[in-house]
Amino acid sequence: MTERPLILVTNDDGVLAPGLAALAEVAAKLGDTVVVAPESERSGSSHAITLHAHLRATPLRERWYAVAGSPVDCVYLGSLHLCPRLPDLVLSGVNPGYNLGTDVFYSGTVGAAAEGYLRGAKAMAVSTDRDVDPTAVREIVHRIAQRLLQSDEHLLWNVNIPPGAGRRADDVEVTRLGHRAYKETVEERRDLMGRPYYWIGGPPEPGEHEPGEDTYAVQHGRISLTPLELDITARDLDKTRRILFPEA
Ligand code: MN
Repeated sequence: MTERPLILVTNDDGVLAPGLAALAEVAAKLGDTVVVAPESERSGSSHAITLHAHLRATPLRERWYAVAGSPVDCVYLGSLHLCPRLPDLVLSGVNPGYNLGTDVFYSGTVGAAAEGYLRGAKAMAVSTDRDVDPTAVREIVHRIAQRLLQSDEHLLWNVNIPPGAGRRADDVEVTRLGHRAYKETVEERRDLMGRPYYWIGGPPEPGEHEPGEDTYAVQHGRISLTPLELDITARDLDKTRRILFPEA
């Protein structure tokens, strides 16, 4: 790459989140950066996009914006309008809490990275254990992001970093998505008028994980790097054909 790479940094935890600052520091060492992040916490917003309301982007300082929208809004607006050109790399995170296995369907961190990838940029979502100080993972994130930037491939990487990992290059394992178990919870409460309202979503539960899965790698103290593709077509089309056309 001849010119300095352009890196768009975002997250789903909001523009004030410490993980965003840590990731912006990493990005500044790798290229020119633009930070565009949601004004407030937008975790769990997946690939949501705001099509039926206006969006405002508030400049906080040079090349830092807070957007009153979703993580995907940030990447869309960021890469098509707030950046001087399409970014070479979109970095999303550092999320306090893993995004493993089926989490990728809910994760705003992954959603933002996926949007960057759809727009033609290389992209990487980074998550850690909830209790990890995001400044502690800057060095390993830098090393991984640098590899991605230097490659000629158009890729989307989902990276999860357990506590203490990243001191050695072989701490990173290329994985596939596993399955993450949660305590499935619907809690009904009453408001002051006596009407019911609900909290949904419980904490993660330990599950059985297989070698090669991101969940297994992280459970064993290793960094998982899962390359994602956005075509989720079932591998076995014939299963459906046999149901529709049993006589054939
Ligand atoms: Mn989050």
